[in-house]
Amino acid sequence: MNHFTLSVIVPVYNEEKNIDSLLKRLLPVLEPYDYELIFIDDGSQDTTASKIKQYCSTDKRIKLIRFSRNFGHQRALSAGYAKATGDCVISMDSDLQDPPEVIPSMVEKWQKGAKIVYGKRMKRDVDSWFKVITARGFYWFINTLSTVPIPKDVGDFRLLDRVVVDFIVHLPEQSRFLRGLVAWSGYPAAYVEYDRGERHAGETHYPFGKMVAFAFEAITTFSTKPLRIASWMGFIGATFGFLGIIYAVLGKIFLPDYWVTGWTALFVAITFIGGVQLITIGIMGEYIDKIYTEIQKRPMYIISEEVNL
Ligand code: UDP
Ligand code: MG
Repeated sequence: MNHFTLSVIVPVYNEEKNIDSLLKRLLPVLEPYDYELIFIDDGSQDTTASKIKQYCSTDKRIKLIRFSRNFGHQRALSAGYAKATGDCVISMDSDLQDPPEVIPSMVEKWQKGAKIVYGKRMKRDVDSWFKVITARGFYWFINTLSTVPIPKDVGDFRLLDRVVVDFIVHLPEQSRFLRGLVAWSGYPAAYVEYDRGERHAGETHYPFGKMVAFAFEAITTFSTKPLRIASWMGFIGATFGFLGIIYAVLGKIFLPDYWVTGWTALFVAITFIGGVQLITIGIMGEYIDKIYTEIQKRPMYIISEEVNL
């Protein structure tokens, strides 16, 4: 394709300190292209939106969608995909952890035929060891469970061809683990390697609790194997319980004089089976949660304002 249009979508949540520096580095990179740059303000309480509006007023290619409140990063990206009109769409963070200079090589790989071009993180030394270890554990676990491989060291910095964007936008489901959904689509993918930089200013919006929630969302929307594991735990627990019954009854029959103790066995059995039951109920609960949100069919987000769109 000789002439094409490029959309760049950037979710922002309380990023007032990053907007100027981002645009200073991003706009020169985008200049050679026929582009639109869409910011999705995910309910910021600071001056993020007004900062972006200043840029919108001088350049119609810069656009803004504002959510009525904070709906979350993955939903902000989904809104961006829904509004983007480009032949290919690049998603990136606003904190300059995803270097804009990588964009031309993404576009090149797309022009050579890839429908998905992932930004692959080479060095992760800016991340804490805790984040590296938990991320590794998460990708190992989800790839063990999921039927489609989900690439690791890949975040939400990627280019998608129009066909993949249309697929994402028309998905009927509420849950949005976009990395998984993109991989699930199965279109030919390419990688561009980059070094993930430090966050330019401000704090991460993914503290431990949110990372765990993200992992649960990813696992429950991509695999039902935990339910199978729960059943197996039930079987194993029941087998032990059954052996315990035989042991207790035989003891009572053949050793009636000594058979008064057994407190330890009882305690172990109760706590073990209790634990297995609680875990099993918890796992089922996670899936009921998913069914519940899907059935409610609430809108994924509410847009309160649009500029230049
Ligand atoms: N973000 C968002 N809504 C949220 C949380 C984050 O739109 O509820 C945006 C944020 O402004 C940033 C991007 O998503 O542009 C990635 O977030 P962050 O940098 O905090 O995540 P990390 O890079 O630490 O994983
Ligand atoms: Mg970041």
